[in-house]
Amino acid sequence: MKLVAATGNAHKLEEIRAILQGFTVVSQKEAGYFGDVEETGETFLENALIKARAVCEATGFPAIADDSGICVEALAGAPGVHSARYASKDGKNSSDESNRALLLENLAGETNRRAWFTSAVALVFPDGGEVTAEGHTYGSILENERGEGGFGYDCLFFSDDLQKSFGEASPVEKNAVSHRGRALHALAAKLKELL
Ligand code: IMP
Repeated sequence: MKLVAATGNAHKLEEIRAILQGFTVVSQKEAGYFGDVEETGETFLENALIKARAVCEATGFPAIADDSGICVEALAGAPGVHSARYASKDGKNSSDESNRALLLENLAGETNRRAWFTSAVALVFPDGGEVTAEGHTYGSILENERGEGGFGYDCLFFSDDLQKSFGEASPVEKNAVSHRGRALHALAAKLKELL
């Protein structure tokens, strides 16, 4: 089955392809979609559904979207759904570097560094059917960046499971424990029952 990944993020596309191996996953650009959906939801799940519904409607193919972010206990769950635009002044996405710098600044002197990534994934079918799942992965925010791999907050996130930062992990290691990996595996299990 052909699925359109409702994301412009190459890292996310690769994770989706690696896990949903029984499906032909094409990018939204390959499917002819060049829009940018506004994420107006208040939860990860609402935003994933907004993106998947928009791309499904525009392309006519089943569309899969992920909405994800990092939540920090000492910051009452922030940056949360605002992770991609944490350091932004205009509500648009800010650079990964500026987001990480602001996170470190807001945690300066804080000893509680507990954090988790959340991913909500939504698959929307042209007939209106919707399948959703969520995944989490736990760890803590480092005082300094470690590792060159990944994207976003990876080099600041020390994973409980891997006992190293996501920036130091290989894609295979990260996919095995990542929030998106877990959400996609949960989605794949639901699809197996349905299809
Ligand atoms: P989204 O594209 O609206 O879901 O925004 C997700 C944002 O959360 C990204 O821009 C990253 O800053 C952060 N994020 C989500 N997943 C990850 C991950 O696996 N590693 C690092 N940062 C992530």
